[in-house]
Amino acid sequence: TSHVYRFGGGVADGDATAKEALGGKGANLAEMSSIGLPVPPGITIGTAVCALYYDNGESFPDALKADVAAGIAHIEAHTGMVFGDAANPLLVSVRSGARVSMPGMMDTVLNLGLNDATVVGLAEASKDARFAWDSYRRFIQMYADVVLGLDHYLFEDALEILKEDRGVTLDTELSAEDLQGLVARYQAIVLQTWGDAFPQDVHDQLWGAIGAVFGSWRSERARVYRRLNDIPESWGTAVTVQAMVFGNMGATSATGVAFTRDPATGERVHYGEFLINAQGEDVVAGIRTPQYLTRAARERAGAKAASMEEAMPEVFAELARVFDLLEGHYRDMQDIEFTVQQGKLWMLQTRSGKRTAKAALKIAVDMAGEGLISSEEAVLRVDPGALDQLLHPTLDPSAPRDVLTKGLPASPGAASGIAVFDSDTAATRADAGEAVILVRTETSPEDIHGMHAAKGILTARGGMTSHAAVVARGMGRPCVSGAGGISIDLAARIMRVGGREIREGDVLTLDGSTGEVMAGAVPTVEPEMAGDFGRLMVWADAHRRMKVRANAETPDDCRTARGFGAEGVGLCRTEHMFFDAARITAVRRMILAEDGTARAAALAELLPEQRADFAAIFEIMAGLPVTIRLLDPPLHEFLPAHEADFDEVAAAVGISVQALRRRVSELHEFNPMLGHRGCRLGITYPEIYAMQARAIFEAAVDVAVRTGATVVPEVMVPLVATPRELEIIKAQIDGVAAEVFGETGRTLDYLVGTMIELPRAALRAGEIAAAAEFFSFGTNDLTQTALGISRDDAARFLQVYVEQGIYARDPFVSIDVEGVGELIALAAERGRAARPEIKLGICGEHGGDPLSIAFCETLGLDYVSCSPYRVPIARLAAAQAAL
Ligand code: PEP
Ligand code: MG
Repeated sequence: TSHVYRFGGGVADGDATAKEALGGKGANLAEMSSIGLPVPPGITIGTAVCALYYDNGESFPDALKADVAAGIAHIEAHTGMVFGDAANPLLVSVRSGARVSMPGMMDTVLNLGLNDATVVGLAEASKDARFAWDSYRRFIQMYADVVLGLDHYLFEDALEILKEDRGVTLDTELSAEDLQGLVARYQAIVLQTWGDAFPQDVHDQLWGAIGAVFGSWRSERARVYRRLNDIPESWGTAVTVQAMVFGNMGATSATGVAFTRDPATGERVHYGEFLINAQGEDVVAGIRTPQYLTRAARERAGAKAASMEEAMPEVFAELARVFDLLEGHYRDMQDIEFTVQQGKLWMLQTRSGKRTAKAALKIAVDMAGEGLISSEEAVLRVDPGALDQLLHPTLDPSAPRDVLTKGLPASPGAASGIAVFDSDTAATRADAGEAVILVRTETSPEDIHGMHAAKGILTARGGMTSHAAVVARGMGRPCVSGAGGISIDLAARIMRVGGREIREGDVLTLDGSTGEVMAGAVPTVEPEMAGDFGRLMVWADAHRRMKVRANAETPDDCRTARGFGAEGVGLCRTEHMFFDAARITAVRRMILAEDGTARAAALAELLPEQRADFAAIFEIMAGLPVTIRLLDPPLHEFLPAHEADFDEVAAAVGISVQALRRRVSELHEFNPMLGHRGCRLGITYPEIYAMQARAIFEAAVDVAVRTGATVVPEVMVPLVATPRELEIIKAQIDGVAAEVFGETGRTLDYLVGTMIELPRAALRAGEIAAAAEFFSFGTNDLTQTALGISRDDAARFLQVYVEQGIYARDPFVSIDVEGVGELIALAAERGRAARPEIKLGICGEHGGDPLSIAFCETLGLDYVSCSPYRVPIARLAAAQAAL
């Protein structure tokens, strides 16, 4: 079968659903063509060919030659022009197009088909010699960069020198003769640096460009982008070869990019930029300042240059009609590229537009309101991970601001950090734990690692659709672009703005929602949870099956969690209470106790404190279940690690330094993660869990009596491997409960359960369920123990593992479904077989990860538990998983 698909001129071999085979761009060109929009004719070489190309040692499959030739014939038939013909030359663009858009990551060649003969034909056909020579010099420059791999500065320098010689500042001021001379200069550069003449055969040009586009799939920046966005290497890219239309044929021609709604705020306005007498890359490159589409946008920005609505009212009206058609057809916000050639509008691309989390939310809720989509679809439209952006603080409006300058509000959110001026420094200093703001004149795809490492991005040049803006929005980083007031002296590592100097390392604050750039740090405020966010959450909750709880142990965290809609506490890590500075001495006395009496005395001191901790949590979570996990960490974590602290600790606890030193060395473990922790503490020092159980039940009874609230304690035992461990500890907990109920004359319902966080526990879950009323999967430890990878040391090498595809994702972030996932599935099945009504949840970090949440849904778990800020993310992800 042919892997070459035609579109344009009333023909469409594919449609928008064929993204896998045609790539996003090819599929949408076919779709636009089939709904009657003006699309220049072309062909798409399918993604399957990319895989074949790499499988064949970077050579093309045999059948492709004939298929492409037939495709070129299709383009010729519908344009009336002939590829390589000196009198009536067809020019084409060659572009990449993966299944999902990877903006700026892969290569493009425009104006292909020009040579020393066809350029003359183009000049005659267009009656515009300047245009023809300008197209040719652009083509050589692009081809030399993308296909021949020559340094683009060589060509830019030659252009700059020519402009200086002619005493002009704009490219458009150069004459046809100037440009003809420049072409000769460019050809000389190619001959000199490449060692051969610039290819004159248009078919050689075409195949060179197709190979280069496939090659760019494996470029370094494309690999980085794929890794950051979880795009598999195996997908490959398609290549689209399409008849050129020209936005640079004078004052009635133009080129632009647009969104059918504002991609930053989600507002329903025609949003975009265009340039008269220009080609596509001029808009994105930020060489000339683009003009606005609408008069309203121009006026709001206080810009002088006419908007498209004013300069080309008829074409603008046509474009506005196309916007509505596309939105109605795709039922989503579209990101469009268009060209106007001598008054005629051509559509070059449409795709679902990238948007900020704020815009995604507003667009989904608005479109449901407009009846364009259902509430289910609205829930599915918002990426739960992106909600993060909305749940984080923004600048306190009442805090003083030392505003240095204002740029474009390119990506919302606020960030403070130290200014750094290049991406390598950004990555290094971020790795060292510093918050950094990446400040660049403009960004390019080479800056992707620096942008990822940065808390915020500031550029001096570039519009709202510049590289910096698009990438920052996708990454959820605040970004201010086009801050023309700043200049960066890279050599001196200084940014100058309004007569002031900011050195590398000085603190800056960005507000990506207003475009303000401030000196120093500005305090922030919590986000607003009402409005569109509230609406979407109501819809999400209506479709959700799993409950969402929070991992929380302080009253503050519990309040935040309830505010975000948590339906209980899924994990209260009691050791966090033990680390409290005010009670650490009592904890140490308990650990250092030489006998039971001394230990009992220390525990008696801790009991009222723990009881107060639990009472506070029960009150805040009234009516909701609260899972309290008994003490987990190894004891030596509570003891001083350094000799320098020994005197002080010994004095505070009331023992000799010698005795302290001896106990510390006795408690030392080589691998504490697999040492004396979890229920092993409970088995060897039963008094500790007895004290905690007493604190829990006394607090529960106290709150129930005092406030009348229903208190639902769930006591959880950590690091169980065998049923016997749980039986012993459960008997003890039940004993304490009975005592407290006897003493207070009040009983209440409670559960005793266990974490499943060791492979043995997962395997023996059937027997363990005999004593457990619930399981909570502790996927942090389960991942660590199943994979044999220390959770504290993984960062050093896991990155390489993910890059090489050994694990698709960091298994501590997203559940390793095949390995750890199978253990969970097995434990759930065996646990349910033994105790059908057993409650199942997850409380490892994975409980807030949308992919892991989707996996939990497939197992029918009862709830997920995650950190308070992730609760809304989990609510949305759980709804999506259920839909
Ligand atoms: C776990 O192991 O997944 C867990 C939740 O417990 P912790 O992270 O406290 O070890
Ligand atoms: Mg654990």
